Amino acid sequence: MARTGILIEIENNAVKETSFGVMTAAAGEEIYALVLDDDAASVKDKLAEYGAAVIVNITASGELSKSPDLQAEALAAAVKEYKLETLLGTASATGRDLFARIAAILDEPLVSDCVQINIAEKTVKKSHFSGKAFATLKVNGSVFLCTIRPNSIEPVAASAAGAGDIIEFAANVADPGLIKIVEIKKDTAGKLDLTEAPIVITGGRAIKAAENYKMLEACAKKIGAAVGASRAAVDAGFAPHSMQVGQTGKTVSPRLYIACGVSGAVQHFAGMKTSKVIVAINEDKDAPIFSKCDYGIVGDIFDVVPALTEKL
Ligand SMILES: Cc1cc2nc3c(=O)[nH]c(=O)nc-3n(C[C@H](O)[C@H](O)[C@H](O)COP(=O)(O)OP(=O)(O)OC[C@H]3O[C@@H](n4cnc5c(N)ncnc54)[C@H](O)[C@@H]3O)c2cc1C
Repeated sequence: MARTGILIEIENNAVKETSFGVMTAAAGEEIYALVLDDDAASVKDKLAEYGAAVIVNITASGELSKSPDLQAEALAAAVKEYKLETLLGTASATGRDLFARIAAILDEPLVSDCVQINIAEKTVKKSHFSGKAFATLKVNGSVFLCTIRPNSIEPVAASAAGAGDIIEFAANVADPGLIKIVEIKKDTAGKLDLTEAPIVITGGRAIKAAENYKMLEACAKKIGAAVGASRAAVDAGFAPHSMQVGQTGKTVSPRLYIACGVSGAVQHFAGMKTSKVIVAINEDKDAPIFSKCDYGIVGDIFDVVPALTEKL
């Protein structure tokens, strides 16, 4: 049983589902849930349910929330203090940023955006060449540092809940002061994060106009989905680049991916091929996407999507 630290991401006083997925990846290990100066008590029961033996509430002198450098220093100090053999997190914007810094501070190798992990063997599976190949990598470091692609591991509560004891850890570290977060502006205010949403519905070139995304948003609202776009739709000005899924856009791995009027180009597929179930709606029965999806509907998106929304 490896002592495994997990960086817990908390939003609106609740642990993100994607962090539970990371905890599930560490099932059976001695889990230290690492919380960066947040209300650990309010999330204690949930973290215990997913197997946290210990919850470490990390503080440091200085503005922890405003300095990724200080956060990374404090997390690295926690790794040393609690002799963590493994440190895992989500390959989210936060995870990607902090883990690179932690790896540099600890001088340890890091593997990011993995879709499978074996902690005992220190191996991971991750995609290469825009999703065309998967490699299994063995990591030879004294601390096993890894981030996991959001939603690639389905969260499952632990078979035996952890004790969830809260420890306060005041890290004795200084802020290098190189970067300061001044403001966080979410351009998808009030909407689900595309990379972390459990369901994604995407509109391709066939959407024809920006206002037609409202049709997809209405459907998304019914099923708790985020709305994405293909590059053709982005290039045509129908959607912002922040919505683009694919090789030069975002990588998503939801439980359900619904592609509406998307042809299924390899560069689009690169960003969504690890989705668990893929549904395609396209009026061309020979569209390439039909050879890559689990369910296909041959039809006009302007007929099918409203009918689907109505049914939902
Ligand atoms: C280096 C590089 C990087 C790239 N990166 C990305 C990327 O990150 N993401 C990405 O998406 N693409 C990317 N592309 C572009 C990619 O090759 C495709 O051009 C793009 O994905 C096509 O988008 P699309 O499927 O929406 O449009 P199209 O290929 O034009 O397909 C539109 C589809 O809609 C169907 N259709 C039309 N009208 C309707 C209707 N009313 N109802 C139902 N179906 C309808 C058509 O049958 C067609 O299959 C990249 C390309 C390159 C070269």
